[in-house]
Amino acid sequence: MSGVNTAGWRPSMNSAEGGVSVPETQSGDHALMLEEPLIFELGCEGQTGVDFDAPAKAVSPALAKFRRKAAPAVPGLSEPEAVRHYTRLSRQNYGIDLGPFPLGSCTMKHNPRLNEKMARLPGFADVHPLQPQKTVEGALEVIEQLADWLITLTGMASVAMSPKAGAHGELCGLLCIRAALDARGETRDVVLVPESAHGTNPATAAFAGFKVETIPATPEGRVDLAALKAKLGPDVAGVMITNPNTCGLFEPEMKAIADAVHAAGGYVYCDGANFNAIVGRVRPGDLGVDAMHINLHKTFSTPHGGGGPGAGPVVLSEALAPYAPLPFVARGEDGHVHLVEEENRGEGHARAFGRMVAFHGQMGMFTRALAYILSHGADGLKQVAEDAVLNANYVLRSLEDVLQAPFGKSGPCMHEALFSDAGLPEGFTTLDIAKGLIDEGFHPMTVYFPLVVKGAMLIEPTETESKPGLDRFIASMRNLAQRAREEDASLHSAPHFAPRRRLDETRAARKPVLVWKADARA
Ligand SMILES: *Cc1c(COP(=O)(O)O)cnc(C)c1O
Repeated sequence: MSGVNTAGWRPSMNSAEGGVSVPETQSGDHALMLEEPLIFELGCEGQTGVDFDAPAKAVSPALAKFRRKAAPAVPGLSEPEAVRHYTRLSRQNYGIDLGPFPLGSCTMKHNPRLNEKMARLPGFADVHPLQPQKTVEGALEVIEQLADWLITLTGMASVAMSPKAGAHGELCGLLCIRAALDARGETRDVVLVPESAHGTNPATAAFAGFKVETIPATPEGRVDLAALKAKLGPDVAGVMITNPNTCGLFEPEMKAIADAVHAAGGYVYCDGANFNAIVGRVRPGDLGVDAMHINLHKTFSTPHGGGGPGAGPVVLSEALAPYAPLPFVARGEDGHVHLVEEENRGEGHARAFGRMVAFHGQMGMFTRALAYILSHGADGLKQVAEDAVLNANYVLRSLEDVLQAPFGKSGPCMHEALFSDAGLPEGFTTLDIAKGLIDEGFHPMTVYFPLVVKGAMLIEPTETESKPGLDRFIASMRNLAQRAREEDASLHSAPHFAPRRRLDETRAARKPVLVWKADARA
């Protein structure tokens, strides 16, 4: 952590009343944080990090037509220039190894180094999906052991290990539901989704060919059971419910919801991305869940961010287990674990809906997740959930006098604390607090999500932050809330100390420039 002193912080940079005016540097750099051009802008023709000998033999005339007419459009840099470029870029990359990453719903927890060590063992790191099974029995055994743990921790009948992420797992679960309905000869086409759901839920339901209908939330931020029951009928394939939900609250009526949905002939999909709040304490299988994805890259500490890789195994009830996708691992009569690749592999799995991926699973993620589980044990995992919830409640109660907590009165939260900008003076918004947090040396929290709360700020500390670390974060948040209350206009232009100020986020989303073109340089 930066160790920013948060007491009475005031930006001094070029602010009229701030006193000192900071000069612009000639280089554009700020102290040792250096401006970094694109590597193409740095490179010059003819420069190279390595010297190649001229080819010993003349190129065969048969290949002559392939000779380049122009030099390849690659940037020319010396070795130190190339090394410095990437090192400078790496220093601009904020990550969980630099400081807290309080993004609600993302569970950015510490990735234990022991997991990394295990994942780098050559027997796991170097396996190839096309290797003969006999040569990867240990790796298959790891997948099987992890699968056993996931089944035990969730109280479910079976698990599909191959989905590559949470959203991919959602799709897998809905395709299992679709296959089960097909087997029953029914064409139910509606999936009910609460309005507080993660955006991936309605997107997945639509992608899987279902119609999405929204269930409203109660004023306490939970699923409105009566409204849900009113929507149940012969056209409803199932519900997708996140528990704990995206307001950071447990859905206490989950069992009643599941019973009602089952009675109406539907299935219950649970978005298990927030399993880290209940692992070891609650088994979704006991609540009537039929399918639930588990984000190994959240609950079980495998790294994420930057788009992957993740892993989203889907635990399944007895009712859906037969439809799980290929391939999967199973212990054969010989006592060895096999990878089952083909249809018609006998009892229980006779009706796979197809496959989600070409090859089985994410070996690196499986190895890390199993290392995490084994190093914690069942007791340790329970403590993980308890500490994650404790930390979030500490943040909730330490900030609710300066920031509005819309569900603060509903009792304790689970693993994340939800605030809004409702109590701030006119014109001071969640965005100002988030940008101010960058100046304080913290990655911003999740903003404007969940959508049910206007100006939402969702903070998930995870169990891996210490009390002193949380206290520093809380002090910074209190300072920002105070500055907003005092209508400190400098907050509107934060961040002041980051390499970039406020970006045009709308333009970045609508008109992204993703490819560098030489002629755009002029
Ligand atoms: C993270 C998350 C997802 C999606 O998981 P990915 O692995 O990012 O695809 C779905 N639902 C909730 C509630 C989440 O927090």
